[in-house]
Amino acid sequence: MNTHLSTAEGGVAAAMQLIGGASVEARAGRRIEVVCPSDGLPFASIPRSGDEDVDAAVRAARQAFDTGPWSRMTAAERGRCLTRLGLLVERHADELAALESRDTGKPARQGRADVAATMRYYEFYGGAADKIHGDTIPFLDGYTALTLREPHGVVAGIIPWNYPLQILSRVAGAALAMGNTLVVKPAEDASLTAIRIAELALEAGFPPGVFNVITGYGREAGAALSAHPGVDYVTFTGSPLTGTAIQQAAAVNNRGVTMELGGKSPQIVFADADIEAALPVLVNAITQNGGQTCSAGSRVLVERPVYEKVAAALAARFSKLVAGPHDADLDLGPLISAKQKERVAGMVAAAEEAGAAVLARGSIHPDAPASGYYFAPVLFGSVDPGMAVAQQEVFGPVLALFPFDDEADAVRLANGTEFGLVAGVWTKDGARQHRVAKKVRAGQVFVNGYGAGGGIELPFGGFRKSGHGREKGFEALYDMSATKTVVFNHG
Ligand code: ADP
Repeated sequence: MNTHLSTAEGGVAAAMQLIGGASVEARAGRRIEVVCPSDGLPFASIPRSGDEDVDAAVRAARQAFDTGPWSRMTAAERGRCLTRLGLLVERHADELAALESRDTGKPARQGRADVAATMRYYEFYGGAADKIHGDTIPFLDGYTALTLREPHGVVAGIIPWNYPLQILSRVAGAALAMGNTLVVKPAEDASLTAIRIAELALEAGFPPGVFNVITGYGREAGAALSAHPGVDYVTFTGSPLTGTAIQQAAAVNNRGVTMELGGKSPQIVFADADIEAALPVLVNAITQNGGQTCSAGSRVLVERPVYEKVAAALAARFSKLVAGPHDADLDLGPLISAKQKERVAGMVAAAEEAGAAVLARGSIHPDAPASGYYFAPVLFGSVDPGMAVAQQEVFGPVLALFPFDDEADAVRLANGTEFGLVAGVWTKDGARQHRVAKKVRAGQVFVNGYGAGGGIELPFGGFRKSGHGREKGFEALYDMSATKTVVFNHG
């Protein structure tokens, strides 16, 4: 079933999408070139689906949900399918990691880390599938009331390009554990591993039609999927603007949605913090995956007495950062696309024009192909909190530093954007750790650390513009199901 790179088409390996257990072309026969960001050259192609293909995928998922063997499987059996899929991911780890790195440009070690997290999603949700249950509720005399956790039905997952394997698998793990069927639309810039995972899912014993993947552009296949009346629930990770479009489309059918829409996440460094321990974490939080991470720590707030010291230490580290091809496994790879590079460069230029001081820049490896989408990391100092680079998600390796005066000022600054996804708090003062963790508006707060590193067990999601609903952990199982209350009148 290894179809993703198996059929050559004019020298370009042609991947197929997976509908109802079959590898199929888009009905109109159109394709999208797949480019490796490290050199900007095409190395594969994917089907460019439209309304008809989306309709076929939703119908396949509907049939599998309503009448297929999936609808009769016990929770334990669903869990076993997920566990087997995790083991298959482990067996194909090298292949998946290499494919993910080539498709996205992410450094080889990040590709491997993503595969390890992917495996954990299926392991975790495989084990969790039969451990979610309802309640019995004390009610009127002569009655017994209970709740059942029921799947929504057909879940549409619209997946971004930054962590294709991981984000696909956090959606699939929770949705399938609860008995939904899936239609997934990976990003046009990074679809190959999603196709491969759906193939492995068939091998793992998921019945045909349970795990469908359609490929294509967001404005075509993505828009058709989010508006399709046969879809019961939509989950999306990506930019706030696209999130709004998807919610509007889903609202036409009044469908529920989970939205993970990124952030402008702060790390707060108090003067008493272990700064040596914090420094590598502060740098990694914005350079991992080239800063193309929803939970990137893109703002660092530093208490004034140590501001100059932290700024100088970060500048020293930033100036040593090197971007290069995915297989060179340097500090960071290229950005995903020419469009993304242009966007990041535009935001950096605008920040400089607005008066933000560049404290340091990293570099691009001299051997990196000129046709790749490389962008050298940038550290901005003493940023005005009103600037666009302080308020908007850059989605690139761009860190903004801010001084603050006291705890109240730190919390005000931390909460001073429209986002609220993740925050970091660095201090040795235990009472302050608790106070600040409670006051910052973020779906996850890390104290003396930052980032989940996968963190499959940890509920994740945003406040305000960062979105709503929770993924990961047991929480995701509630989002991926609905409570049904059943009341018996037995007198
Ligand atoms: P980017 O603009 O960087 O590609 P997006 O957040 O727009 O980031 O993309 C994330 C995912 O959303 C991708 O799978 C993309 O194809 C999809 N998408 C983009 N636009 C739409 C849309 N209007 N409706 C549904 N899906 C979309």
